[in-house]
Amino acid sequence: MINYLYREQNWKSQLNDLITDPHELLRILSLSPDELLSGALLASEQFKLRVPRSFVDKISKSNPLDPLLLQVLPHHLELDEHDGFITDPLGEEAATQLPGVLHKYQSRFLLTLTGACAIHCRYCFRRHFPYQENLPKHKDWLDIKAYIESQPQINEVILSGGDPLTLSNQKLHTWLERIASLPQIQFLRIHSRVPIVIPERLDQELLQTLTMSRLNIILVIHANHAHEIDEKTQYYLKQLHQHNVTLLNQSVLLKGVNDSAKLLQELSYKLFESGVMPYYLHVLDKVKGAHHFDLSQDRATSIYNELLALLPGYLVPKLVREIAGEKNKTPIVTQFNPIE
Ligand SMILES: *Cc1c(COP(=O)(O)O)cnc(C)c1O
Ligand code: SF4
Repeated sequence: MINYLYREQNWKSQLNDLITDPHELLRILSLSPDELLSGALLASEQFKLRVPRSFVDKISKSNPLDPLLLQVLPHHLELDEHDGFITDPLGEEAATQLPGVLHKYQSRFLLTLTGACAIHCRYCFRRHFPYQENLPKHKDWLDIKAYIESQPQINEVILSGGDPLTLSNQKLHTWLERIASLPQIQFLRIHSRVPIVIPERLDQELLQTLTMSRLNIILVIHANHAHEIDEKTQYYLKQLHQHNVTLLNQSVLLKGVNDSAKLLQELSYKLFESGVMPYYLHVLDKVKGAHHFDLSQDRATSIYNELLALLPGYLVPKLVREIAGEKNKTPIVTQFNPIE
């Protein structure tokens, strides 16, 4: 067994040493600079290239169509305008209650503690969101606490982002303790892509913080393709699983990345082997710059119907869409069986 533990100190240095230069990325992957068609660098100025080296290790060399590469490499098509593709498709700016608090669903709300991500996913619906203006400071905790107490139906806090696992263990610990001090809160969810892109982040100290808390902790990771889960990633995920942290995965259905039932089937099995249950399969949010990842609703439902036939029910993620103003994610109904 490879000893991964000695590398634990290395997640911070990885975070400080992200690849941000498209030319460097292409060089590492033995690709020609011509892969950056004119406009790609401009696209990168609008939403910077940002990718950790651990993720680049999982990308195959000399393949400009690698499904992991497509998720991170800026593309000139991002600059095209398309009807219906807008900067804030989910109306999040309007739904923000307090700095960092996004409360749209009854029992649970998103708390954003950082606007930073370890990776920039080209299809992200948050690529235009002005986070930095809207983060809670330590002193804002009292207001957030008062808000939660004024809403007794809230029993879950979701740390979302940005990516909460880019924060230090110290800071996470502080916020977890604050949240755990409210008796009405039973569940603490962490939405993060970091376990996939810098798996060493799931270090012993974090494991301790999560397992010692009185809260039920659910970690929702984000992987779109089986290649994102290599042996090292699996090792760290299993550690959490063995310590009774509930692990779920959400994916986005993306043209050119995972748009086949076979690929999604592989992903589900790979997740299960890592102690992670498939949760959501999102259709793309119509954000400006992501049109080239979009699939027609017909194509999405036909892939999903095929997937239903390939997997046991417990490994099928729920196909959903987020509609601004709805009280929950909206399931997409793919098969209609009239009840006799
Ligand atoms: C997705 C989301 C949640 C969590 O929804 P679940 O269906 O419980 O996973 C909560 N709040 C907002 C604003 C969301 O977008
Ligand atoms: S919020 Fe998630 S999907 Fe968006 S860029 Fe960050 S890690 Fe990627």
